[in-house]
Amino acid sequence: MSATESFSAWWVSEQSSDLRSTHRDELGPGDTLVRVEFSGINYKDGLALQHKPGVLRGYPMIPGIDLVGFIEESELDQWQPGERVLLNGSGLGETHNGGLAQYARVAGSDLITVPQQISNFRAAAIGTAGFTAMLSVLALEDAGLTPEAGPVLVTGAAGGVGSIAITLLSGLGYEVVAASGRADSASSYLTELGARRIIPRTDLSEPGRPLQSQEFAAVVDSVGSHTLVNALARLNYGGLATVCGLAQGPDLPGTVLPFILRGVHLIGINSVYAPRALRERAWKRLARDLNLDHLDSLTRSIPMSEVGDAGARILAGELRGRTVVDVD
Ligand code: NDP
Repeated sequence: MSATESFSAWWVSEQSSDLRSTHRDELGPGDTLVRVEFSGINYKDGLALQHKPGVLRGYPMIPGIDLVGFIEESELDQWQPGERVLLNGSGLGETHNGGLAQYARVAGSDLITVPQQISNFRAAAIGTAGFTAMLSVLALEDAGLTPEAGPVLVTGAAGGVGSIAITLLSGLGYEVVAASGRADSASSYLTELGARRIIPRTDLSEPGRPLQSQEFAAVVDSVGSHTLVNALARLNYGGLATVCGLAQGPDLPGTVLPFILRGVHLIGINSVYAPRALRERAWKRLARDLNLDHLDSLTRSIPMSEVGDAGARILAGELRGRTVVDVD
């Protein structure tokens, strides 16, 4: 790309979100220029596109916490033009311009080589949501979980993190129970991903007793609030909870009883600042363990022109699985 050539990018300002023509010198600092092929719509991208607080640290900003593409040019010896790279988080689309643009200028040290077995489209389908699902599974394994321990609950099941967590866990031999607000409309979808049983979201989303019947060895939670509190109350003795999201709310309206009477463990998951070694480990495991047919079945693709609408729909809980944005 010549320095004067223009390209398309979504821009969020205080009042509006627009797709507009952009020049390279608007991209901001960074030692590496990436030609973006695909980005995606995560919950955070919905928040950014809808001007909700807490994601974009300044305006105007190009949103998009994920990108997959090719090195265009880099000041680092590590990267050569044409190499396939991906980036999830690390401040992309939050503190600096993100992936919902045909070009992105980033710190080359944040980029990861796309695993050889995974196409660029599939790497975008995995995106931050799938990366976070994998981080959750790794955290459970590191804490000693095995399939013999008992069923694993996945909340926010039809969402991006939830859908990929279900297919990963079921592929690894876990008995997965999915909690979903779309228990009826999405039941065959969730079963095909590997959920053994589906419970309605409302079983967990209202205030409940601080200790309930022990049912689950672990929970992968992307919902927070009463849903997480009820899940903690249903964990077995020594049960594990990974916590990454707040689709119901950021509150934790519970008691310490599951911790002090059942030795339950709460494990926080943060994908944005995951160190490089953990990123590489997670992507290696995704390349090895993720069922790519399942991944394809939970993914749909949209053009750049539909990004604004998709951002609104993910916040309304209307998007299922993963939405890849074809940026080219
Ligand atoms: P999605 O919107 O794709 O999935 C969220 C799911 O949560 C929905 O599909 C829905 O599932 C469920 N849900 C939505 N609203 C409610 C509600 N009011 N009460 C209960 N359940 C609800 O988002 P993502 O999967 O991309 O992200 C999920 C969460 O995880 C977000 O809060 C996101 O910010 C967070 N996240 C955090 C990361 C980290 O690094 N910590 C990284 C990635 C995501 P269903 O219809 O099946 O009920």
